Amino acid sequence: ESLNRAWNFGAGPAAIPVSVLREAQASMLDYAGSGMSVMELSHRSKEYETIHNAAIEDLRRLLDVPEEYAVLFVQGGGSTMFASVVYNLLGSGDKVVDYFVTGAWSEKAAQEAKLLGAQVNTVINTKSGKFRSITSKSEWTLSAPEKTAYAYYCMNETVHGVEWFETPEVDPSVPLVCDASSTILSRPIPIRRHALIYAGAQKNIGPSGVTVVIVRKDLLGARPFLHPVPLMLNFKTYADANSLYNTPPTWGIYVSGLVFKWLLGLGGLEGMEAINTRKASKLYAALDAYPKLFQAPVAGPVRSRMNVVWRVLGEDGQPSDELEKEFLKGAEARRMVQLKGHRSAGGIRASIYNAVPEEGVDALVAWVEEFAKKSRA
Ligand code: PLP
Repeated sequence: ESLNRAWNFGAGPAAIPVSVLREAQASMLDYAGSGMSVMELSHRSKEYETIHNAAIEDLRRLLDVPEEYAVLFVQGGGSTMFASVVYNLLGSGDKVVDYFVTGAWSEKAAQEAKLLGAQVNTVINTKSGKFRSITSKSEWTLSAPEKTAYAYYCMNETVHGVEWFETPEVDPSVPLVCDASSTILSRPIPIRRHALIYAGAQKNIGPSGVTVVIVRKDLLGARPFLHPVPLMLNFKTYADANSLYNTPPTWGIYVSGLVFKWLLGLGGLEGMEAINTRKASKLYAALDAYPKLFQAPVAGPVRSRMNVVWRVLGEDGQPSDELEKEFLKGAEARRMVQLKGHRSAGGIRASIYNAVPEEGVDALVAWVEEFAKKSRA
């Protein structure tokens, strides 16, 4: 049976495993004999409650989330979290917040903190080097721990393709906040090193509209902000109501839950990490084999396993829009889609999240090689 499915290298919304889509499809009209689709069920119904709690439990199992952390489903996407982090963790305002700026997303988060009146200390900012590396600890300017409300980093910069494989070392008394939107579930995460981890679902989890928050329970409601915080931006509201304070994105949580079961069925995140490492290594190796034609600019140790970015170079050694267009066109013709780099960065970006099978990466590698041979080697 031909499914007419493309190899989807989109950064988000992104690929979802075919088996998950099939399962969702099978229950589209009648979920578990209810005579309704999941998206038609009341969020207060028994059926939905079961879906909701199983999704939370399965996510806890996958990430090995300790008891002292709450797992929440909130709304607003990653961009809303930029503000929610400040509202929930800054406190009454006499403290500094430390931001590691390693790409477009942590830069935006730091800007939002400033907008809300936080005193932002930039621990590192790699913008002048075009966000291609992460500086070593000796170059960081961390604030004094007793003055720091929290430290913040983005584990994987989706636009620039830069990933932290080691958790940044900050004083254990300083709550560490992590935007894991584009790398969550691609490998195990040391939860206890963090105070708060969040992720928009539309990359490595499921449909857009769901945002996962993992937060240490003792921080909930513990730091009243400068002025009252809207209830829907206060994580305590969600924790107190098991993420059912208002109507959650029920369909998105259902499909996310199917993805969690898919991952558990595959044996969890260690196995996933091995596959993801292999997929990324193959692609980087193929690009590196033609240094006059392809340039994957991110420094080796922080090259993202999820978002592989590169430029196609002309004879003059400069990025060539024309050759990039040709590369993308040939990719489309081979059913490989959504490979265009982010509009702010240009070039090519292959997002190879969990749901992109190794076979899809092999197809891309074959096209990289074919393109190199027919251009110039
Ligand atoms: N953080 C990261 C790492 C992202 O990649 C994105 C979006 O691509 C965001 C935050 C913003 O997410 P959203 O579009 O859900 O607001």
